[in-house]
Amino acid sequence: MVILVGAGLVGTMLAIHLSQLGIRVQLLERNQYQKSTVRDGRTIAVTLGSKRFLEQCGLWEALESTAQRINHIRVFEKGSAWTLDYDHQDLGVEPMGYIIEFDCLRDALYEGVKKAALIEVLDNCTLQRLTPGEVHTKEHGVLKAPLIIGADGRNSWVRGQVNIKSRLKEYGHKALVAHFVHEKPHQATAWEVFQPSGPFAILPMTDTVEGYHQSGVVWCGPKDTPWETLPTEELEQRLMEIFPFYGKVTLNSTRWTFPITALTVDKVMASRTILVGDAAHALHPIAGQGVNLGWRDVADIAQLLVDAKDLGTDLGAEHLLKQYERRRKLDHKGLYFFTDGLTRLYGSDNTLVSFVRQTGIAVIGKIPPLKKFFMKKAMGV
Ligand SMILES: Cc1cc2nc3c(=O)[nH]c(=O)nc-3n(C[C@H](O)[C@H](O)[C@H](O)COP(=O)(O)OP(=O)(O)OC[C@H]3O[C@@H](n4cnc5c(N)ncnc54)[C@H](O)[C@@H]3O)c2cc1C
Repeated sequence: MVILVGAGLVGTMLAIHLSQLGIRVQLLERNQYQKSTVRDGRTIAVTLGSKRFLEQCGLWEALESTAQRINHIRVFEKGSAWTLDYDHQDLGVEPMGYIIEFDCLRDALYEGVKKAALIEVLDNCTLQRLTPGEVHTKEHGVLKAPLIIGADGRNSWVRGQVNIKSRLKEYGHKALVAHFVHEKPHQATAWEVFQPSGPFAILPMTDTVEGYHQSGVVWCGPKDTPWETLPTEELEQRLMEIFPFYGKVTLNSTRWTFPITALTVDKVMASRTILVGDAAHALHPIAGQGVNLGWRDVADIAQLLVDAKDLGTDLGAEHLLKQYERRRKLDHKGLYFFTDGLTRLYGSDNTLVSFVRQTGIAVIGKIPPLKKFFMKKAMGV
């Protein structure tokens, strides 16, 4: 058995996968664990690699009708003539990924948890203290397991209890998330627009039930941008100025804002404890990779645990946890530096930096192996 703290998109995926592999899980969540009651708004880019993992865990069927294919990704800098165009057909017939609403993912995972034979959910749970192999709780006394997994998000309680140091990066930015309907079809294209005030992504969604074309926007900008109070018409107007390609756009949702921070940690293991998901790494949302990275943690730790179970060895053994840390290091650090570097590269209006950016876009577009390398990274394959 393992104890898993946190029933977010990463913790629940791990719980389901472990249960399928024959490992019992106690899933501790501080809130009531239930289907989405408040809409979250995020439109999550799910890579092809993650889609295959969802399939493997038997969760794809419930999501398929809500998933919008991404067949093309276009990247450009406002004011520059260069664009970088990725087309899924360069690599095969499958799409590069899918856009799925956060709430659909959350609810599909909720159903998966309910169906799983080996998951015991302890929600509304107050955690008091953690020692190696033990979690002290207010409601259930002391819970014991050879391994405790922290999937409790970027302010991880587990991480604090085992004294793993973390560094939070504040970008001084926030992200506006909203859904729009628009005149012209999106042709399954995801756009990334870089501008000095912050990156802007427009992500294709499935048509509305009334048959209107629909996209989600993630618009990053300084913290004091008055997105919450801007009159709707002005918001739509500003959007069409940055992004004039879909004709008239109309706001079709409430507006959500998220602070933009990133986080790195010194290590992802301590005695009988590991971290997964945002507890172990949090990224700028620019690349839409946080959940995907977390699910790759899930796949790796689950494989190590099932091997240990089959051999009848200790699930919390130090050498196993070290192996997890070694396996995940490059992926964690690589994506953090890539996304953080991109924001710095595109946040500067220095002429030399601008030249480097535009040359970079032109060079990647002209060298097929380099282009394919970046495509595969974005697709998680
Ligand atoms: C605007 C925006 C857009 C994004 N877009 C994308 C995208 O397109 N693609 C992508 O892959 N990622 C994206 N992300 C990132 C993604 O949302 C996160 O990486 C992901 O949701 C993290 O999931 P998690 O399960 O690790 O953590 P969380 O979602 O934070 O879940 C943690 C869980 O632990 C619980 N918990 C916390 N503390 C305790 C405690 N003490 N006791 C018990 N339970 C506790 C919480 O209640 C929660 O249920 C985006 C993020 C933002 C902000």
